[in-house]
Amino acid sequence: MAKIFCVANQKGGVGKTTTAVNLAAGLAQHGQRVLLVDLDPQGNATMGAGINKSELKTSIYEVLLGMSDVTTARKTSETGKFDVLPANRELAGAEVEMVELDNREKRLKDALALVADDYDFMLIDCPPALSMLTLNGLCAAHGVIIPMQCEYYALEGLSDLVNTIKKVHAKLNPDLKIIGLLRVMFDPRMTLSQQVSAQLEQHFGDKVFKTIIPRNVRLAEAPSYGMPGVTFDPQAKGAQAYLAFGAEMVERIKSI
Ligand code: ATP
Ligand code: MG
Repeated sequence: MAKIFCVANQKGGVGKTTTAVNLAAGLAQHGQRVLLVDLDPQGNATMGAGINKSELKTSIYEVLLGMSDVTTARKTSETGKFDVLPANRELAGAEVEMVELDNREKRLKDALALVADDYDFMLIDCPPALSMLTLNGLCAAHGVIIPMQCEYYALEGLSDLVNTIKKVHAKLNPDLKIIGLLRVMFDPRMTLSQQVSAQLEQHFGDKVFKTIIPRNVRLAEAPSYGMPGVTFDPQAKGAQAYLAFGAEMVERIKSI
């Protein structure tokens, strides 16, 4: 049975997609069977895995609305060696259309159950909002990975996300936990980064992943080649960090 994790943070541009795509590729390199679920109408995870979002016949949109299933809609990322449940802008419509459906927070959970035995991990790349789509991600998952930049405003948004996770845990998904906070785009030369990083460790203790992802331009360049950073330039510091993060995740989930 697959373990399912959301990569979530309602702040935009904090590194969710980069984390989801590179963790998927990193876990695949550690021999794990992975499904990357693109739950964002921007379709960035789809493109970053080398799949053209404008040429999809079926996508997560049809799956959420019950017009297709995951076995039909999934694709394989040749560059990352994992499967992808792809998305494009059509998914924005699902948000509205799902409102009328029964069990609307659990559409994704029910859809993924069909392929739970095909994978060791499913990673859900959430959009930058605490929306019905993100709620579907949180209801489907066993845990949440929260990527964050170590800057002042990062901490402010964090409490909204933590409260949402608590509510979902209490009312909709008792399995849900915060697996950890991942420090990304880290610049050790900045005093503020060091301070925020230390604060995070103080407040969240071992909920902060040991691995720190540095700011690394190779990670930013990789998506334009349709490749995860870890396969685009495996020796780059960013790629090495995501590989280490993959190993840390494999270790950490043994205890959950
Ligand atoms: P959105 O909220 O729009 O979905 P996101 O949280 O998924 O954004 P990403 O798309 O992963 O964020 O990253 C935002 C930008 O930062 C991208 O251009 C990405 O290439 C770049 N980026 C992410 N991580 C790093 C890193 N460690 N080093 C350098 N650039 C990075
Ligand atoms: Mg994204």
